[in-house]
Amino acid sequence: MEGLMMHYPLTTTTILEYGNSAFHHKKVISHLPDGSRHEYRFSDLYKRTKQLANALTKKLGVTRGDMVGTFAWNHYQHLELYYGIPGIGAICHTINIRLSSQQTEFIINHSEDKVIFVDATLVPLLEKIAAQLETVEKYIIINAPEGFTTTLPEVLHYEDLLKDNSEEFEWPALNENDACGMCYTSGTTGLPKGVLYSHRSTYLHASTILSPNAANCSNRDVMLLIVPQFHVMAWGFPYMCILAGADMVMPSLHLQPEAIIRILQEEKVTKANGVPTIWLGVYEAMKKNPPKEKLVLEEYLVGGSALPASLIEGFERDFGIRGVQAWGMTETSPLGTVARLQPKHESLSEKEKLHIRAKQGIEFPGIEMRIVKDDGTVAPRDGKTMGELQVRGAWVLRSYFKTLNQENFSEDGWFKTGDVSTIDEDGYMHITDRTKDLIKSGGEWISSVALESALMSHPKIKEAAVIAIPDDTWSERPLASIVLADANEKVTKEEMMEFLARDFAKYQIPEHYVFIDQVPRTSVGKFDKKEIRKRYAEGKLG
Ligand code: ADP
Repeated sequence: MEGLMMHYPLTTTTILEYGNSAFHHKKVISHLPDGSRHEYRFSDLYKRTKQLANALTKKLGVTRGDMVGTFAWNHYQHLELYYGIPGIGAICHTINIRLSSQQTEFIINHSEDKVIFVDATLVPLLEKIAAQLETVEKYIIINAPEGFTTTLPEVLHYEDLLKDNSEEFEWPALNENDACGMCYTSGTTGLPKGVLYSHRSTYLHASTILSPNAANCSNRDVMLLIVPQFHVMAWGFPYMCILAGADMVMPSLHLQPEAIIRILQEEKVTKANGVPTIWLGVYEAMKKNPPKEKLVLEEYLVGGSALPASLIEGFERDFGIRGVQAWGMTETSPLGTVARLQPKHESLSEKEKLHIRAKQGIEFPGIEMRIVKDDGTVAPRDGKTMGELQVRGAWVLRSYFKTLNQENFSEDGWFKTGDVSTIDEDGYMHITDRTKDLIKSGGEWISSVALESALMSHPKIKEAAVIAIPDDTWSERPLASIVLADANEKVTKEEMMEFLARDFAKYQIPEHYVFIDQVPRTSVGKFDKKEIRKRYAEGKLG
């Protein structure tokens, strides 16, 4: 028997309407590319989004199901696009500005973007490939300085597009399962693949992650959105903050540690998100030059790659700021798990607590996880048995855009993440590696992530990336590429091996070390192991 509750579509428009109704006075603050500060209220966001909706439909002829690209930093205009485009039934395709020209061209042609909204500072990147873009009819420039010129064809300025449009707009009735946004994976392990989010998945993701067990975001918070809107929808924070009534601070291109610290101070930010690299940089800058006034920042939510235990420990010890780890993928909207301690952990030692917090955490309600062993059976939740992490849930993709990729799904419909993990008795998932990065030495698996995390806790080591290299006897052995905290100091191979011997079995300890100036990174700031392997193969590493 069907329940007798209303059919109320969960859409991004309902998020915007709620934000305007319940929290119209809350703020969106943008530190724009030209260094100026812009502030307005949720009610202004609401009115301008309606102007945008009028402009999209009447001036640009965008209709339901059309793909509209954005190529922009985090700021209020991008937020308006996050609501205006899906509000009219079109799809907000956020294009990662850090991909290669070739990948960007592929993505835009593959998604068939009709219009692209682009920040003036990023226009040169699109100018290079504009001639090859097959479907783009118009480029809308955001934040253009005076005297701005471009070789892009069919150009309009964002403010010119919006002006003279009514602040009244009747949202069309949408099906909650319609697409609202799209993001391509960053191609760390292959060609970028499109993930098409629905209104429903976006709504459920946003309303779940704000909970105290998760991002712990409420109308008392001032959230700094460091994770870019051009990748994995800024972790859904643009939707979550409106639902929670949290003030939002958008840093655009001001992402250097000093700029972030200044914004944290000036805007009295209480919580923020970001990848580990960002927080490592902020921590180091704060250590070198401690802020005169204590930051009100309570915690930073980290994901994208493993949050080193040493960083959690250092930040908390030196500045009283908590690091909270989350795990996710473009394919999972992105948040899937979060690692917070529970009351039952209070009696544990600090070391034991840190051990739990350095795991990737427990799943959100709405997501299920399991570990599948090589023989295809589901691993016990014992914190030891490794296998591939598989997930399913209300905001996990069931297919890639225009691609079948059946190998990414199990026969019973779970998504295969490509992460190698364990799950313990309490449900805390711990990533030991990516399938492609595991090292198989003499028939035994060695986790590159565990070695990296241990090496990075050495006081003289700033960063460490471990890859597998071929070995005649063992088939593969780990090689650690090391960035020293102080280039003038030395660490010997013996010193590192002795340091690792505390936590690792002998066969797991690398005997190959190279010193490098910096770890090559992907477009989203992760260690680029493909590049490290390539440099090693070409004899150019270290
Ligand atoms: P890409 O697959 O292109 O790197 P994503 O940004 O979607 O793009 O990355 C998802 C992957 O990032 C996960 O499969 C996992 O390997 C890694 N990852 C995400 N969060 C964490 C985390 N907290 N700890 C370790 N790895 C993580």
